[in-house]
Amino acid sequence: MSTPSTVDTTLDRRELFIDGQWVAPANGATTDVIEAATENVLGAAASASASDVDAAVDAARRALPGWRGMAISDRAEVLDWFARELKTRAKATAVLTSRENGMPISLSIGANGYAPSMMVSYYAKLVRESAAEDIRPSAMGKRTVVRHEPVGVVAAITPWNYPQSLAAMKIAPALAAGCTIVLKPSPETALDAYAFADAAHAAGLPAGVLNIVPGGREAGAYLVEHPGVDKVAFTGSTPAGRAIGEVCGRLLRPVTLELGGKSASIVADDADLDHFAAQLAGVSLPNNGQTCHACTRILAPRSRYGEVVDAVTAAVAALQIGDPLDKSTQIGPLVTRAQQLRVLDYIEIGKHTGHQLTVGGDIPDGIDTGWYVAPTVFADVDNSARLAQEEIFGPVLTITPYTDEAEAIAIANDSPYGLGGSVWTSDEEHGLAIADQIYSGTVGVNHYALDFAAPFGGVKASGLGRELGPEGLAPYRRTKSIYL
Ligand code: NAD
Repeated sequence: MSTPSTVDTTLDRRELFIDGQWVAPANGATTDVIEAATENVLGAAASASASDVDAAVDAARRALPGWRGMAISDRAEVLDWFARELKTRAKATAVLTSRENGMPISLSIGANGYAPSMMVSYYAKLVRESAAEDIRPSAMGKRTVVRHEPVGVVAAITPWNYPQSLAAMKIAPALAAGCTIVLKPSPETALDAYAFADAAHAAGLPAGVLNIVPGGREAGAYLVEHPGVDKVAFTGSTPAGRAIGEVCGRLLRPVTLELGGKSASIVADDADLDHFAAQLAGVSLPNNGQTCHACTRILAPRSRYGEVVDAVTAAVAALQIGDPLDKSTQIGPLVTRAQQLRVLDYIEIGKHTGHQLTVGGDIPDGIDTGWYVAPTVFADVDNSARLAQEEIFGPVLTITPYTDEAEAIAIANDSPYGLGGSVWTSDEEHGLAIADQIYSGTVGVNHYALDFAAPFGGVKASGLGRELGPEGLAPYRRTKSIYL
């Protein structure tokens, strides 16, 4: 096996990656990617039109028979090489992504740097070790062979907030299952997506197995409807997910939807508040609050309400705001001016709705460049308020008092969403019992961190289906029963 190639760090990527080739978009269109911290143009990326999407889907269809027909051990070997190439690029990719979307580098190094190669390795190992078929005794005949076949050509559409890991959650299981894929990344973070193309090219992934077509909403909508696509995997906002789900329903096309969230942290009356406060930034404000599973609603027992408000306020006031590339930065800029304005609008709503602003509430002092918003806390927020019901997607937390555990659980569940959640208690069994009653796809007890080996996904307006773990492979396979 060859050693990983050298890393290409160029920021001008005016070509699409289709059929293993670098091709100029049919209409020559490019989009500037702007650096969140400096507001300067970081680079330009190709922007796909309908005919480019046609070419990418055609390439994926042509590559399908060869890729799905490859022996699993050979496919896994190619993926292992792909993983090594991604790992070689991990640091450069993490820095590039932080420059695009403002994610603090301390988070980006794992989430955008090393996570993709780890996921590709994980799924290569999983398929190598799992049976492609099982043979069952049959009551009606001799026996039945149940084959696990790849679903076919996958359309993957991703957002800008964790662009690398969210793309890898689709690319890794799809390729491991024997599917081919067309990825349409978000225009705000189109540049980092080329790391997958560079690594695929260097690893000798057969032409057409992975195709990358950055572009806007129109390119995404065209891809979802494309007759050459067999399955759609989408991560993004709930309104876009609903629109995509409607199309897939009409087409009877399998779809995975990973959508928005508004998760709650239940602080039980026996919680260790020092530990809770120490974990707050990672659980409630990761990626400057631009995280689908962030626990942005803090539910505090009336018996310790003042203590919780003080602990949260002090922890948020102490957060280090600054350059996302500085290792000590905990809060960087938001991804775009539009996102900054949207979050500031919510803060204004909070100020005029009678909530108690305890910290933050504006652009941070002394910062005049970059789309920063000071991490902000509102206390005394009734759960019916807009700030507690709507996904803000920025560094804004609410604190809501509760009287007893039953009320805390009812408040946690009183949300259109159900993606994350956390429980803080000195009794882990008690935490598990509360977690059982939270209507959500994932819950943490005394911390919250995704586990690659366990399924991740939501209920209600947070989406349909699961990614990660063996469950994340299943949507890329379908069964065929052969009765012998
Ligand atoms: P978005 O929905 O605006 O865009 C996401 C992607 O979908 C982009 O590539 C966009 O170009 C494309 N797109 C938009 N409308 C489309 C349509 N009708 N058809 C096809 N493609 C379309 O979301 P965003 O603003 O980029 O991301 C933020 C949202 O993503 C938040 O709501 C967040 O909670 C959600 N998110 C969810 C998860 C999860 O795993 N549940 C993870 C991260 C982000």
